[in-house]
Amino acid sequence: MSVNLLHYKQLKAQLPKDVSLCIISKHHPKEDILRYYELGERRFGENRVQELTKKLDLPKDIEWHFIGHLQTNKVKHVIPYVSCVQSVDSIKLAKEIDQECKKINKVMPIYAQFHLAIEDENKYGLKIEEASSFFEECKDLSNINLCGMMVMGPHTDNQERIKEVFNQAKQLFQTLQKDYPNLTTLSMGMSDDYPIAIQCGSTMVRIGSYLFEGDE
Ligand SMILES: *Cc1c(COP(=O)(O)O)cnc(C)c1O
Repeated sequence: MSVNLLHYKQLKAQLPKDVSLCIISKHHPKEDILRYYELGERRFGENRVQELTKKLDLPKDIEWHFIGHLQTNKVKHVIPYVSCVQSVDSIKLAKEIDQECKKINKVMPIYAQFHLAIEDENKYGLKIEEASSFFEECKDLSNINLCGMMVMGPHTDNQERIKEVFNQAKQLFQTLQKDYPNLTTLSMGMSDDYPIAIQCGSTMVRIGSYLFEGDE
């Protein structure tokens, strides 16, 4: 077993009521997920189709959030099983999710992933300049519900720079909310930067290693 219940208790005590938790369970076995399930957690995030598929025999009321880069040809393998795709980074992917959802009569909540930490290369995500066309085009897709934004902080120890990126995300979020009232979730903050993300207005943190490493 490698869940860190001390960290879990501390995190739960720290999270404001309006900030929800998505436990990122990638690379962690089903037994560990079940430990958190038994404590009442239902929202878990995975970033690979193959790994998610192997975990689908876990309880059916788990809300799986997909958080990794998703190729359009894999969409049909995940959308029947997930409650949300947080990592939508192109209109092509949004359209594919919409089409596959139509076939199974589902409306999928999706988040637009933005790449704001421009110093980190090879990161997926929309650019700020693409925001309005992406949101406008998604309006016409009736089997998706664009209801959130997902952002990653920069890989740096520079707290000021992390804060800058999260503040930029919050600003973009608030601007978009004026035109798109469905937009309610700002998913930002991971193990190393979630306290800053919360300060900057995150409404959902995605925490992995902090909850799975260290002592029992
Ligand atoms: C892995 C991952 C996380 C969690 O990261 P930790 O540092 O383990 O908390 C959050 N979001 C995304 C998109 C990830 O890939």
